[in-house]
Amino acid sequence: MYWQEEQECRPRKELEQLQLERLRATLRRVGKTVPFYKSKFAEKHCDPEQLNTLEQLRSYPFTLKQDLRDNYPYGLFAVPLRDIVRVHSSSGTTGMATVVGYNKNDIVTWSNLVARILCGAGVTANDVIQIAFGYGLFTGGFGLHYGAECLGASVIPISAGNTKRQIQIMQDFKSTALVCTPSYALKMADVMMDMGVNPNGLSLRYGLFGGEPWSEAMRREINERLGIHATDNYGLSEVLGPGIAGECSECDGLHVNEDHFYVEILDPDTLEPVAPGEVGELVITTLTKEAFPVIRYRTRDLTRLLTEPCPCGRSFHRISRLMGRSDDMLIIKGVNVFPTQIESILFDIEGTEPHYRLIVERENNVDKLTIQVEVVESIFFDAMKQQRIFVDAIRKRMASELGVGVNIQLVEERTLERFNGKGARILDKREL
Ligand SMILES: [Zn+2]
Repeated sequence: MYWQEEQECRPRKELEQLQLERLRATLRRVGKTVPFYKSKFAEKHCDPEQLNTLEQLRSYPFTLKQDLRDNYPYGLFAVPLRDIVRVHSSSGTTGMATVVGYNKNDIVTWSNLVARILCGAGVTANDVIQIAFGYGLFTGGFGLHYGAECLGASVIPISAGNTKRQIQIMQDFKSTALVCTPSYALKMADVMMDMGVNPNGLSLRYGLFGGEPWSEAMRREINERLGIHATDNYGLSEVLGPGIAGECSECDGLHVNEDHFYVEILDPDTLEPVAPGEVGELVITTLTKEAFPVIRYRTRDLTRLLTEPCPCGRSFHRISRLMGRSDDMLIIKGVNVFPTQIESILFDIEGTEPHYRLIVERENNVDKLTIQVEVVESIFFDAMKQQRIFVDAIRKRMASELGVGVNIQLVEERTLERFNGKGARILDKREL
């Protein structure tokens, strides 16, 4: 099921021609109207008039989150402020906030792109969508909200937090689709259990989750515990917000809305393209955004590009589910370790919770990774010998799947911090 069938199923050749035309127009425009791009292009001798292939974009400069901060608040806007109808901002947890803006056309485009994602996940105009993403400066709530209205669904703009009330409303209003982060969906399942609410008695059928990386195992757990069909979608506020990519019913990678975004997958160290299908950093260029276009924005998110045709009929390439941030990828004794791999293993081990913290240290020039794992209460009551066997089993499983030895530390249930959104579960104490 498609929202804009003609666009979503356009033959690749036509799509690439359209991308090239839109890319050239975007580069031309930002080169004229945004001083930051104007001087960057001049510095690298980039002339949009000379762009004849998509690959030539590789000679263009990157845009970093720091560039957005340096131009705080409106320095990178490509239209006058009077044309802006909406402003969003990312939280300043890791430094100064970044600000993005949308004009009227951008809001229409954004709504349609989110409607595509909702459609791809199986949601229709008949659904009742409970949006438990935060509303406000964060793009998640409003992004999904406008997309769901554009689709014609009934929207419950409940926003984030107050889990008991979320569940009450879900029961009373007969919500059929839930929008939030995957970790919050699991928290809801926990609270339902505490409240004695049986998820099978609810009307809930779909879950659209995003905002943080998660694993296949976590999807299985959410599907089982909430009795829903969970899909993954991807976006980030610096580029658009939600609506950049989302899964179709095949649940095998996220289709990128390529008529609006040009994506590259690059080695985060060399910044050269990785071989097809290899893991690298996702770099995005907007092709249609008017108020706040970005050129080669380094997302720091790690993924793979999947170019095989999808049975759903969409011609857009897919990216694999996000594997974490390039800043989060740990190199332990020379081996790449992704937090999502660890999460996935923990899901499979009876008695552990999918909550963990990673502590990296270096002793005598040797890296040491300690995984703090939450375990169910009964494990703590076990005899020491039983506990040791349990720890050994986790350690062996981690070593064989990650390819490096780790230390395991058990901690009591619900003692590690919960994350509602992108969170850092890593404490790197190495002085590199
Ligand atoms: Zn598909």
